[in-house]
Amino acid sequence: MATVPEYFGSLVFDDRVMKANLPAKVYESQRKTIDEGAQLDISVANAVAAAMKDWAVANGATHYTHWFQPLTGITAEKHDSFISPSPDGGVIMEFSGKELIKGEPDASSFPSGGLRATFEARGYTAWDPTSYAFIKGKTLCIPTAFCSYGGHALDKKTPLLRSMEALNRQALRILRLFGNDTAKCVRSSVGPEQEYFLITKEMYDQRPDLRFTGRTLFGAKPPKGQEMDDHYFGVVKPRVAAYMEDLNQELWKLGILAKTEHNEVAPAQHELAPIYTTTNIATDHNQLTMEIMQKVAAKHGLVCLLHEKPFAGVNGSGKHNNWSIATDSGQNLLSPGETPYENAQFLLFLCAVIKAVDDYQDLLRLSVATAGNDHRLGANEAPPAVVSIFLGDELSAVLEAIETDSPYAGVEKTQMKLGVDVLPNFNRDTTDRNRTSPFAFTGNKFEFRMLGSSNSIACANIMLNSAVAESLKIYADRLEGAEDFETALHQMIKKTIKDHKHIIFNGNGYDDSWIKEATEKRGLLNYRTTPDCMPHLLDSKNVKMLTEQGVYSEEELKSRCEIMLDNYCKTVIIEANTMVDMAKTQIAPAVEAYTAEVAKSAAAKKALDANLACTYETTLVKKLSALTDRIAAKIGELEEALISLHQASDVETESYFIRDTLLLRMSELRVACDEAETLTAKKYWPFPTYADLLFGVR
Ligand code: ADP
Ligand code: MG
Repeated sequence: MATVPEYFGSLVFDDRVMKANLPAKVYESQRKTIDEGAQLDISVANAVAAAMKDWAVANGATHYTHWFQPLTGITAEKHDSFISPSPDGGVIMEFSGKELIKGEPDASSFPSGGLRATFEARGYTAWDPTSYAFIKGKTLCIPTAFCSYGGHALDKKTPLLRSMEALNRQALRILRLFGNDTAKCVRSSVGPEQEYFLITKEMYDQRPDLRFTGRTLFGAKPPKGQEMDDHYFGVVKPRVAAYMEDLNQELWKLGILAKTEHNEVAPAQHELAPIYTTTNIATDHNQLTMEIMQKVAAKHGLVCLLHEKPFAGVNGSGKHNNWSIATDSGQNLLSPGETPYENAQFLLFLCAVIKAVDDYQDLLRLSVATAGNDHRLGANEAPPAVVSIFLGDELSAVLEAIETDSPYAGVEKTQMKLGVDVLPNFNRDTTDRNRTSPFAFTGNKFEFRMLGSSNSIACANIMLNSAVAESLKIYADRLEGAEDFETALHQMIKKTIKDHKHIIFNGNGYDDSWIKEATEKRGLLNYRTTPDCMPHLLDSKNVKMLTEQGVYSEEELKSRCEIMLDNYCKTVIIEANTMVDMAKTQIAPAVEAYTAEVAKSAAAKKALDANLACTYETTLVKKLSALTDRIAAKIGELEEALISLHQASDVETESYFIRDTLLLRMSELRVACDEAETLTAKKYWPFPTYADLLFGVR
């Protein structure tokens, strides 16, 4: 059996393979494209394509695909084989530079939010040479961006790459001001911690709600949930351990740096964290990770649930987006430095993030908004829907000292007033791990914790990169024109702290009093649901920033807003339809059958002895009968609400109706059905219960 270093990345056309298989000149020019974004010429592309094909074929591949990330949130691929007929009736395996660089999937069924008229239904895919190609099954997958013929982005990778470029541009300007002439580029890095649930395939198959919507729409609270906290970091059960081992191997072969795994808070909940890497690669890897988690689960007779809230009453699943920015030489710009001067630079980058998060709270919030994540944010298990920043006491004290021109009472007592030369050394405080903050500084990176487990991390990082690029641009504009750099720098840092300190909150984010303080005293935004926040994507300040940074065109933003709202509506409508179906065809009949059984038992007893009271049966029959009536009535009301939806004139109106009416009707139907579950004999219940699902993997 090969060791991990031997098979790590064995399915990836990575640097090692390129170096070994490309002519030196071609390799150099390919490297330049990867490292510095240099234009690629067709002769290089041809040579890379040939080497890629030979390598892929030698590793068992027969097909290639341009692998891309349409706005559905998952990945898409269309496979073409390498075969090309030869005159003798056989075939040869062929792959050209042109095929590597550009593809034209007939992509008319991907959401475009009106960006692509049907007459130009074809989009095209363009190779992202910065993310290595890899083999999945028998297919060589080439990471690509996906655009319309008019040049509009129809995917998540394109704006992500643009946002990384925007950040690079502005961060380099700042570094030059600090005398750094050597950095060639600045990139953001991400390490996404992925939570998930594992349940048995057998039980999953019996639940239409899980199959159609990824979450349970019914289910009474089990006798035991997560209250004992005995699952968190607990011993991993053998069946789960076997799954994790298999998963790690598959991920390692694909060059994914799977590092940490453990049980999470809820029963049946687990987490996987990779070592961080460049944002676009981390995004590709996270998409692949989610796909492979599900694939490997199937091999083990399990199902991996990536929904944000598969079970009511127990914790949902999120994804912590650990984010930092670093130069090509590996200097982390969010790491406090050794010298006062480095610390001044660090403080400026820190301030840029604080300003960005405050100015664009709405964009960060909406970047994680989905119907699924609406169940988590603000539900006392995940950060609230209010965006705030945790800095820790040490850093907060440094900022306060700067703002008030007072001595910093940290390790060294230093007056902070006179400019960068005297900024003190401070120890970064990594002991204080506030787990309730949506956006926490953790020593040398920020951890954005609002993402849902099934979200593509692209959206959050697009907004984060763009907003920070905007802060840096404002800083660079001012500093480049300043007469005295140090004074200007000091004043700007001071002003940022003063203007934006209301977003800094080191307390308990799960506390109700915080929401009151945040919204009433501090004026922070609290967009609780997707329909509340999504339309703000088109607020003029947001459109201005995102277009000026070159990340989105206005048309692209309009289409995205439309697609995200449409996705929200469709998701909830499918859930509502599934509920109606399950309640009508499974739950009501089950309760009815059990009621009849109990009534029959009472009748039988009375036939034996007419004087028997049969209180148990009579009471139960009455209760169950009343519940069946209530269930029927609630089904009717939910169906009516579904019909009213047809009257909505546009997707925004539709989303408001769903938020205010449809979800309420759904929860009323659920309450009635869950109560019936607690009164109905287990053998009558038509599908596995919460206890079965949550404790079923042994
Ligand atoms: P936890 O948050 O569970 O305590 P860690 O803080 O050790 O775990 O790391 C969580 C994630 O943060 C990992 O994916 C790790 O690779 C990533 N990470 C660590 N340093 C950085 C960094 N400078 N930039 C981005 N991600 C980072
Ligand atoms: Mg974490």
